[in-house]
Amino acid sequence: VDNLNEILRVVEKPARYTGGEYNEPQLQISGFNFCMCFPDLYEVGMSNLGIRIVMDAINRNNNMTADRCFTPWIDFGDKLKENKIPLYSLGLKKPLKEFDMLGFSLQYEMCYTNILYMLELAEIPLIKTQRDNSYPLIACGGPCAVNPEPLADFVDIFFIGDGEENVTKTAELFIKYKDNREEFLKQASKVEGVYVPKFMEVIYNEDKTINHFEGVTKVKKALVNDLDKAIFPENMMVANTEAVHDRVVVEVMRGCFRSCRFCQAGFIYRPVRKRKVETISKQSCDLLCGSGFDEISLNSLSTGDYPQLKDLIKTLKKDIPKDVKIALPSLRVDSFDSDFAEEARKSSLTFAPEAGSQRLRNVINKDITEDEVLKGVKAAFESGYFSVKLYFMLGLPTETEEDLAGIKKLAESIQRVYRNIPKRPKALRISISCSTFIPKPFTPFQWERQATKDEVEQKQKFLRDSLRIKNISFSWSRYDVSSLEAAFARGDRRLGKVLLAAYKNGCIFDGWDEKFNAEGWNKAFESENVDKNFYLREIKEDEILPWDFIDIYVDKKFLLKENKLSHSEEVSGNCKNQCKGCGIQKEFKCDFN
Ligand code: SF4
Repeated sequence: VDNLNEILRVVEKPARYTGGEYNEPQLQISGFNFCMCFPDLYEVGMSNLGIRIVMDAINRNNNMTADRCFTPWIDFGDKLKENKIPLYSLGLKKPLKEFDMLGFSLQYEMCYTNILYMLELAEIPLIKTQRDNSYPLIACGGPCAVNPEPLADFVDIFFIGDGEENVTKTAELFIKYKDNREEFLKQASKVEGVYVPKFMEVIYNEDKTINHFEGVTKVKKALVNDLDKAIFPENMMVANTEAVHDRVVVEVMRGCFRSCRFCQAGFIYRPVRKRKVETISKQSCDLLCGSGFDEISLNSLSTGDYPQLKDLIKTLKKDIPKDVKIALPSLRVDSFDSDFAEEARKSSLTFAPEAGSQRLRNVINKDITEDEVLKGVKAAFESGYFSVKLYFMLGLPTETEEDLAGIKKLAESIQRVYRNIPKRPKALRISISCSTFIPKPFTPFQWERQATKDEVEQKQKFLRDSLRIKNISFSWSRYDVSSLEAAFARGDRRLGKVLLAAYKNGCIFDGWDEKFNAEGWNKAFESENVDKNFYLREIKEDEILPWDFIDIYVDKKFLLKENKLSHSEEVSGNCKNQCKGCGIQKEFKCDFN
């Protein structure tokens, strides 16, 4: 494009739009041309491991190609529109509309309008029924795809569950039925983990609840059984400009055995699967040597629970280059051990008690006691730490003022522990961060209501007032954003028109504080005559849920039982101590050793 260079000269961070990174795969047009689209900025997407795995899975095949594209920031997006340049991929520099399939990664609900923004910049009609066969198929995958329905108007095909295998199986079918899209979609819908929304109809009751589904009755999530054999990129691209995480990332484990009742990831990624120490070490060495990064992050939902963690760190220290730092980003306070102090320091010391009182921690099945928190921070302080970040949730089911007061008490106890440490390098800093509870699909809390704006703002005020303590900082999340996340997490396909209206009202980059446009969203619900509170209300046990046709192998009955236990403040413990028969055991074996 003639004037692209001139445009790049005037936009912020042009390196986001040029491609040509170190280790960029050399691509050619093939039998299946896929573009991985990330509905957020280059810096965020280049740090995402999931999209690298899917691209690598496709590019391993001679007759398949996977390119990539990230959401352009507004300055570049405006210039593209002004100059009538359609949004293009970074590798082949090919307009997105010329690909066979665009695959969007759904990491959080607040990125949904960016999908529409990217489609518009690509000159592709937003609504699926307005696209003919000359346009690419639009696909989505990633964690939010477990409830695909709010995007059903725009998306042709969803990948539910682990993406490594079902994307390439679908690509093979695409090549086979290239001239017959209808047949392709029919065949693809038979692949495990693939959902084609046009084959399903939703029938509603008069009170707006769902009566039944027609066409599709069950879509099982795709599941990779053996992580040691799963595809893992041997090389990684090095971003052109500073990425959110400039480091090598290796996934040590998928899933988590803790069973916290609010945590969607803990249920949708079951069963726990882990890589062997040798596999992780080999992957780490390959990626570090091939990229030149000087830091490696050992990722999972709870890395402290990796059973061979000490052995792994010992092996890595022996195998990887000496100056490489090892980061353990998701360490639980009770797995903090002075043996890991050095590694944990590379990230920050962050603990998530989630609730201020033991009673409420029992309700959410967070199997952590105040003593364990204090023991963990003591070990950290003894290793030289003087700053702690604590994460909590506000608006949890059954929460009272006493539970909130527990947050302050816990912070004060941590201060006391610090005062008793003989060697204190500096004054202790505690930052307390409170997000708002979101009842998520496939959790025991999926039926719970979300607290109202007034309730949450009162709780935030209570904490602001009580936490005016020297060296303690307090931050909280914006209710308007949390309520939209809840609505879209638990929403149905009738939210599609709200999404479209919000986009037309100028809502994009909704996950970025400075761009969040509450008015645009409020107007969209109003103009489309959709009541947001319908999606935030308490749901009756016998109601059909918009995501009930998705099967993650965890029984609804089990989730309901856990919900009842939560209301009687009973913990059910974690899976490692005792299997609770969630449903997974019918088809897979859980192994925590
Ligand atoms: S099958 Fe048992 S051990 Fe495995 S995830 Fe379910 S409850 Fe936990």
